[in-house]
Amino acid sequence: MKKIRLLTPGPTAIPESVLAKFAEPIIHHRTSLFEAEFKILQDHLKWLFQTRGLVLTLTCTGTGAMEATVAGMFSPGDSVIVVNGGKFGERWAKISKTYGMNVDEILLERGKSLHLQDLESRILANPGAKAVLFQASETSTGALMPVKGIVDICKRHNLLSVCDGITAVGILNLPMDEWGIDVLITGSQKALMLPPGLSFLALSDRAWKAVESSRSPKYYFDLLRERKMQEKQQTAWTPGISLIHGGVESLGLLRKEGLQALFDRHEKLARCTRAAVIAMGLEFFSSAPSPVLTAVKVPSAFTVDQGKQIQKIMQEKYGVIITGGQDELQGKILRLSHFGYCDVFDVLTGVAALELALADLGYTVAFGAGTSAVLTAYRDS
Ligand SMILES: *Cc1c(COP(=O)(O)O)cnc(C)c1O
Repeated sequence: MKKIRLLTPGPTAIPESVLAKFAEPIIHHRTSLFEAEFKILQDHLKWLFQTRGLVLTLTCTGTGAMEATVAGMFSPGDSVIVVNGGKFGERWAKISKTYGMNVDEILLERGKSLHLQDLESRILANPGAKAVLFQASETSTGALMPVKGIVDICKRHNLLSVCDGITAVGILNLPMDEWGIDVLITGSQKALMLPPGLSFLALSDRAWKAVESSRSPKYYFDLLRERKMQEKQQTAWTPGISLIHGGVESLGLLRKEGLQALFDRHEKLARCTRAAVIAMGLEFFSSAPSPVLTAVKVPSAFTVDQGKQIQKIMQEKYGVIITGGQDELQGKILRLSHFGYCDVFDVLTGVAALELALADLGYTVAFGAGTSAVLTAYRDS
């Protein structure tokens, strides 16, 4: 018997009471029963996004909501600035180019965060740009981006701020209305503790104006059509009914915990993880480590192949699933996730399995150094 434990940046573990919802009979979506349930979900989402506006529910993963945003708000030939700090920043650029837009990329060294002066000077060099597209936390490198600073600069230059908060909403404080974020996106399999298949996006009044004048081709992702339907607790197409049913439960759990407690929990788990990294003699990959996940460098004595082995041993021998690096970072970094249905005992499990796997590969780490650091950081913070 091997117990599988998921410590990945989506999908994340799902609470038992949410799993139980998926065993219930399905209902039809064109019914008052569905509308009543969808209304509760919409209300929970407004709370989570810290907005008074409508939060749309789309039946697709996070990338679908990114595409819906680009196709929905812009027109071919529009210019946008993309903060490309990794795989997901790169995705904003690829989607925008697909829709015939001019993309000016701020290419960050992997693991680095954005310097606000660099954004400011790029905007001044690009007087025609309409928006800045960025991540709140770049999942591929574990780097945190200065969201409030980016949004403030956008406001000052009259640009739309489009924030991929797919691994940030429900983890970091991103008060959409208070800060004036124009677009905020998340996905079901991240902090919302659901399986993949739904994404959520909220738009400011300014962003909705942009939607009304967009000339890009679109059919499935028609935000105006969705808004019209979702204002009446309906959806344009068949929604992920079961996921919405589970979402009422999972968002209810988050709401019971409370926003501040939610942010504090994630901050604390990040601190515990970082303490373990230092105690094990490992190095952080990102110079701006995010509370979402901690990326660490594979010890320098390891080859790329040995680097990949760490993750493989953790999975195959110990049942603990973490992620490594993507593309050029394969075999070079490990990403320890600590968000969603996650507590200090999950962090301990991940660190313990990492100690075991490193020992299996001949890296000398004092046994228990990492786990002991987690406990100490937990007690002291
Ligand atoms: C997971 C993730 C995505 C992509 O979401 P999918 O659900 O895989 O389409 C986009 N951005 C960030 C920051 C993510 O972490």
